[in-house]
Amino acid sequence: MTLEKRLGHRVLPYGANFLDWSDMTELRHAVDHGILFRYQTETESLADRLERTAGEALGAGHVLAVHNCTEALRLALVSTRPKVGDIVHISAITFVAVAGAVLATGLIPVPVDVDENFALDASLLPEDARRVIVAHMEGAVAPLPEGVPYVIEDAAQALGGTFPDGRRTGTAGYAGTFSFHHNKILTSGEGGLLVTNDRAAWEVMRCYHDHGSARQHGRYPTWHDDAYYGENFVTSEGIAAIQLQQFRHLDRVLSGLERHYAIAVQELPDRPDIALLPRSAGDVKTSLRLRVASRELRDAAVARLTEQSLASWTFDKYFLPEHPVLTGRRSLYADGFPWNLAADQPRSLSRDGFARTRSLLDRTLFVPLSPELPEAEQVVAAKALRKTLETL
Ligand SMILES: *Cc1c(COP(=O)(O)O)cnc(C)c1O
Repeated sequence: MTLEKRLGHRVLPYGANFLDWSDMTELRHAVDHGILFRYQTETESLADRLERTAGEALGAGHVLAVHNCTEALRLALVSTRPKVGDIVHISAITFVAVAGAVLATGLIPVPVDVDENFALDASLLPEDARRVIVAHMEGAVAPLPEGVPYVIEDAAQALGGTFPDGRRTGTAGYAGTFSFHHNKILTSGEGGLLVTNDRAAWEVMRCYHDHGSARQHGRYPTWHDDAYYGENFVTSEGIAAIQLQQFRHLDRVLSGLERHYAIAVQELPDRPDIALLPRSAGDVKTSLRLRVASRELRDAAVARLTEQSLASWTFDKYFLPEHPVLTGRRSLYADGFPWNLAADQPRSLSRDGFARTRSLLDRTLFVPLSPELPEAEQVVAAKALRKTLETL
């Protein structure tokens, strides 16, 4: 019998397990009051409350709710007042949304190779690097480069992580971005947050995200003398309500992941060809990260786990230097914008043409953990994983 059948339910990603009608008090509030637009009333909206709640939970000075993390990245970039064609250094291992946000802002993404832990290798950055997007992939807290004016932390996969100095992921650089897409730690289907400790930057972000306006609650947008154009990234009360409900469960999600992680590590088979990639204390323990001896063994493990209905994944899809948008410098603009401004720019930064990183990718496997399961069921899941890995 598969694990899913034994546990009697489908294993969903993280926060999605905590969606429950009896718990949707904020969403009920929005519907009861008939208000779905965040600036409808003069009192604190659910979106305001979400921003306050997230700011308190993360220790961030200013928070802005938007539709998704890609918009949050774009807003963070445009608020740095770049020139079109400026370079943004990004991690070579991350979701293509990061490259999309950079390009959509008229800037050039340059993937930078990563270390053994899949964190951007800051020693490869040129001295004059001005904008860097660091990604905390799969809950692993990545160190931030020093001496760079605009470090943006993409914390889409690491909500609730902690740096060694106690700061939370997303709050230690110029700005931090979070995703509430279905597959993330908390979810509202789609949803994003942008955080910064820079008040002036937040005001620019807030203005740009609402048509360049100086909006006051309960009013039609007003324009100020130095207005600039913007777009519409304003969230809705319905989404903010679900994000608030999800935030109430963040500590439970994080502690449930910690517990499952500790149990699963104890149950790993004693094989010289399968090793646990260690995690730091502040990582969000979304998964076990396994380093195996060969690509063949990794592929066999994925196949066997899938047969047993046990989820697993690799990072192959995140290897941006081989993504067609970057290799082909693709664009919908007739003149190839903004790549047409990038003729002399390096395509990527790596010491060995990404040979070591490719080999790491080939040999790394991720097994997601289930925070919502009670301890006894986490033990069952961990034993099922052990048994499957032992048979390889
Ligand atoms: C999911 C994800 C994004 C994009 O988030 P959306 O909310 O879907 O726009 C960006 N970066 C990383 C690392 C992600 O995992």
